[in-house]
Amino acid sequence: MEAEALFKRQCAASLNEDGTADGQRLIKLVLDTYRKANRNLAEQSRLLEIVLNHLPLGLCIFDSSQRLVVSNIRFQQLFGLTGEDTQAGTSISSLIAKIDGLEKQDVKAASHESRPDAGRIRRREWEMNDGRIIQSVVTVLPDGSNISIHADITEDRKAAERIAFLAHHDPLTGLPNRIRFREQLDTALAARKADDQIALIHLNLDRFKSVNNTLGVSAGDKILRQVADRLRALAGKSNILARLGSDEFAILQHGREQPWNVMALADQIRRELSAPFFRGDKAVELSVSMGIAICPKDGTETELLLKHAGVALSHAKSGGRRGERFFTSEMEAQLESRRALEADLRRAIHNEEFELHYQPLYDMAERRICGFEALLRWNHTARGRIAPLEFIPLAEEVGLIVDIGRWVLKRACMDAATWPAEIKVAVNVSAIQFISSNLEDDVSAALAVSELSPGRLEIEITESVLMENRDEALPVLHALRQRGVHISMDDFGTGYSSLSYLSSFPFDKIKIDKSFVNDIVDNKEAFAIMRAIILLGDALGMRVTVEGVETAQQQDLLAQEACDEIQGYHISSPRPAFDVPKMLAGAHADGKAQAV
Ligand code: C2E
Ligand code: CA
Ligand code: CA
Repeated sequence: MEAEALFKRQCAASLNEDGTADGQRLIKLVLDTYRKANRNLAEQSRLLEIVLNHLPLGLCIFDSSQRLVVSNIRFQQLFGLTGEDTQAGTSISSLIAKIDGLEKQDVKAASHESRPDAGRIRRREWEMNDGRIIQSVVTVLPDGSNISIHADITEDRKAAERIAFLAHHDPLTGLPNRIRFREQLDTALAARKADDQIALIHLNLDRFKSVNNTLGVSAGDKILRQVADRLRALAGKSNILARLGSDEFAILQHGREQPWNVMALADQIRRELSAPFFRGDKAVELSVSMGIAICPKDGTETELLLKHAGVALSHAKSGGRRGERFFTSEMEAQLESRRALEADLRRAIHNEEFELHYQPLYDMAERRICGFEALLRWNHTARGRIAPLEFIPLAEEVGLIVDIGRWVLKRACMDAATWPAEIKVAVNVSAIQFISSNLEDDVSAALAVSELSPGRLEIEITESVLMENRDEALPVLHALRQRGVHISMDDFGTGYSSLSYLSSFPFDKIKIDKSFVNDIVDNKEAFAIMRAIILLGDALGMRVTVEGVETAQQQDLLAQEACDEIQGYHISSPRPAFDVPKMLAGAHADGKAQAV
């Protein structure tokens, strides 16, 4: 119709004024129209070719008898074909025969998708011999002809695989992560035969946090990688190893003859991880705690086994670390009561359940009380008074000691500020307070609010504070000492390296542990040891306090030595703050006459 209308218009335009037709003119008009149309067609096919060959995707069209109509250069490149291979009219089957790769069968099966208006869509995937993966999306039209688009998806696939890997693995060590480990445990438990056993070890590196704190996180990461390597070698192919968290690993051991097999493995792990790790030229020593649960004895489900191995691990940790524990049902009950205690402990500060008792420090030369040690008491609403040794280790473990310690410092300084000016106060400080709290600030705040002179405050630390956190503790101790605060080494002689720590810091005082005083009256050797330690402290220019003096004979013996102070039930047991004036006045709160 359009052509007819055009021809009519051309005829009308060829009429002369008198109404006759100008044949020449009509021929010219018609020819011009043909030429223009030809030019457009050429232009169009040129454009089509440009588009086709610049398309970043391979494209080809097959007619209903599956013969190639058109394809682009990218199609040739993707499949490694030549221009000759892709001549119009080539059949699909002869093209496929020339491809340097194979079609993936699993994709083929699952790939049909019907769209009634746009034909059927099929996805195909090719694994090329050079490792590339090509994906084809074929749209089959109702007449059987089809158009397909082809893309190299090698990189996308790699990225997707990497993402899937990362979702199930720990990027630092390349080990399966917690999610993957659960799946593996699920699978192992599901496949377990009736008389099979599966052992689960939950490992945690002891005090790894302090490695991170002192050497820095990147050194910590390097060491964790070395730990993973050692564990990998130990676990071998038959056991499953995973990293559950920062310094936590797990091993799943198949087989019978438990608990012996897993004991042997735990033994090897402990030995292997106790060899020093090297970070530059600095050797780092680590130890490990392990909790072990065995299926079916301790549970046959993933959740329960993991939980029980974790419970056993907490017991290994609280039992002095460095070792392994097998899960027992009593552990759960104990853990439950610990949790309850922890919950109560969290409320204790706010509920004002803490109290400080004071035990005199008695000056041997001046024959009078020269200070008091503040000792924490917890008056639990339901359980009555709880001894510090029962709750302080827990408070340290869960970090509550930071708040509690801050409260102790403040309370002790405030109380001491009400005492006569020559009376000092000694406060115990835990290792954690050096790491997790700014001890220097806490001390300053306590001194400021109480207006106590720094010279009246003594900080007592045990050697374990120095042993575990030397790099953090030493600068703080120096800063405190600079301010005029005195520093004492507590429980001297109980650790194996007290002597070496004495030379690492200029302590003002050493407090000889009460275990040394027990036998000094009856046992010459015990007395000789006590005397040697007193002389050592004296030679180093430190004041020497002997703790745990319970009898007049002990005091008399010590009076002949260079012992500066004593502390113990013989002078007084620790008493509430309101008894301090009475103790200073020379009478015991409990009615006994003061010895001396
Ligand atoms: P410590 O610093 O060695 O404190 C001395 C402990 O020996 C006190 O036990 C005290 O009651 C006890 N004691 C005193 N005289 C005698 C005696 O003649 N014979 C015997 N056998 N024992 C005596 P307590 O009060 O149960 O404190 C135990 C430990 O708890 C303390 O040992 C200290 O390490 C820790 N502690 C107490 N209060 C605090 C605190 O506020 N902060 C921190 N971090 N630790 C504290
Ligand atoms: Ca102490
Ligand atoms: Ca002590």
